[in-house]
Amino acid sequence: MLPYKQFVAGKTAKDAIRITKAFNKKRIGTTIDIFLNEPKNTRTALSNAKQYTDLLSLIAKTKANATIALKLSQIGFFLDKHVCQQNLAMIAACAAEKKNSVTVDMEEHEYEKDTVRIFEETRKEFPNMMIALQAYLKGVNTDVKRLAKSNASIRLVKGTYNEPSSVVLKDHDKIDANFIKIAKVLLRTKQVHAFATHDEYLLDFIKKEAKKTGKKNIEFQTLYGFKPHLPQMLAKQGYYLRVYMPYGANWHGYVKRRLSELSSQR
Ligand SMILES: Cc1cc2nc3c(=O)[nH]c(=O)nc-3n(C[C@H](O)[C@H](O)[C@H](O)COP(=O)(O)OP(=O)(O)OC[C@H]3O[C@@H](n4cnc5c(N)ncnc54)[C@H](O)[C@@H]3O)c2cc1C
Repeated sequence: MLPYKQFVAGKTAKDAIRITKAFNKKRIGTTIDIFLNEPKNTRTALSNAKQYTDLLSLIAKTKANATIALKLSQIGFFLDKHVCQQNLAMIAACAAEKKNSVTVDMEEHEYEKDTVRIFEETRKEFPNMMIALQAYLKGVNTDVKRLAKSNASIRLVKGTYNEPSSVVLKDHDKIDANFIKIAKVLLRTKQVHAFATHDEYLLDFIKKEAKKTGKKNIEFQTLYGFKPHLPQMLAKQGYYLRVYMPYGANWHGYVKRRLSELSSQR
């Protein structure tokens, strides 16, 4: 039996809001993601997108401190890029109206370029967006520089997918070094960025480097169920914290990914 409750908020949006509220009492925000099947047609892609606008409405109604995060594959990326972009714009417009924001998660390497392109195009109209970039991805630094220059907000992660060594760094030290290299760029820009890691060496580096550059508007993000002491510790130190929290019935792939990360720890 997979330990789904350790990593997943529950089956419904109400579960995610209930847990968000408990985090909010400790001055910790969340970013909520829904497990949704990849749509087989554009009608389902739209109805998936509407689940995110419903979630934004519930967040606003309950006054929860939560943003949303989504994968473009959930809203039509593999069916029609134009439809996907329209759905993302609909969600971003709803978020803007509710003074909230949307983060686009990053998926496997072959979708990175189109994901970044759709993000950049949608962001022209809706700046209330953030995108995840993976430090393990070879060539990601070019995107980092361009996006940072255009004042985009970035969620920096190590990268989670089992990808070939032709496209991603495999060596842990090299991934950490690239994470640091990118963090140094981001910590010298004006916009808000999120550093999403549970690696205490990297967290310490970012804290020290942020002190050096004087950058105050940074966010740390952790995954729900990982090192549960971390969010509270960082919040107590005065940092802005968000816990990434998925909910929904289709949780198996996510939990398996988390467990395989845990078993491959250094
Ligand atoms: C908010 C957030 C959003 C993310 N979004 C994306 C995304 O869009 N695309 C993407 O590819 N990846 C994403 N990731 C995943 C990320 O790429 C890593 O796979 C994951 O965060 C583990 O890497 P780490 O930076 O914590 O470092 P690691 O070196 O993997 O781990 C650091 C420490 O964290 C602890 N830890 C690691 N794994 C586990 C676990 N399974 N359970 C409990 N403790 C653990 C261990 O103590 C370990 O020593 C996201 C991560 C976070 C925190």
